[in-house]
Amino acid sequence: MFIGHYALAFAAKKAAPKANLGLLLLATSWLDVVWPVLLLAGVERVRIAPGATAYTPLVFEHYPWTHSLLCVLLWALLLGGAAFTATRNARTAFWTGALVLSHWVLDWISHAPDLPLFPGGVGHGLGLWNSVAATVAVESALFLAGLALYLQATRAKGLAGHLSLWSLVSTFSFMYAGNSLGLAVPPSERVLAWSALIGWLPPFWGLWIERTREAA
Ligand SMILES: [Zn+2]
Repeated sequence: MFIGHYALAFAAKKAAPKANLGLLLLATSWLDVVWPVLLLAGVERVRIAPGATAYTPLVFEHYPWTHSLLCVLLWALLLGGAAFTATRNARTAFWTGALVLSHWVLDWISHAPDLPLFPGGVGHGLGLWNSVAATVAVESALFLAGLALYLQATRAKGLAGHLSLWSLVSTFSFMYAGNSLGLAVPPSERVLAWSALIGWLPPFWGLWIERTREAA
């Protein structure tokens, strides 16, 4: 999933109003922002094979450190613990950890059976990606619901508060449309890994949104 993950970060703002949106966006995408770093380091592997699933040409051959359930639980504890140390807010810490874990659950729904429960284990996945229409329907609905909750929880402090949020929402929508139409097939695994580093951007965008919006 892509915008489905970010949907949950927006929704979590309603459950944890004191949590910085930048932190929530980082937590929900944590596995996918560490992943390209490990790809470039040669620790994890992906292969581009058009037709692998209807939705994506990516075959996730080996990604135990970012995407096995056991490691994801450890990441969730680590990020939740770090959030608690930084904020002293149990609610913020809980939702930070929960978002890290939610990533695995949404991936499990979407992916072909490639998600191990522990490093070296067999893969699991329900394969929503076998249908482009079902993927787009589920993920768009999630995104709209998450955004609606976020809009209930916060309001813009001024023009900047509209600009910060809607520029990110438009960017996500634009990229998601490109992905869904199959316009974003990378020419090589290396280009894919470098371009996936763009995932580090939304958390910073979230910091900007946080500064320009307030609790409703
Ligand atoms: Zn993922």
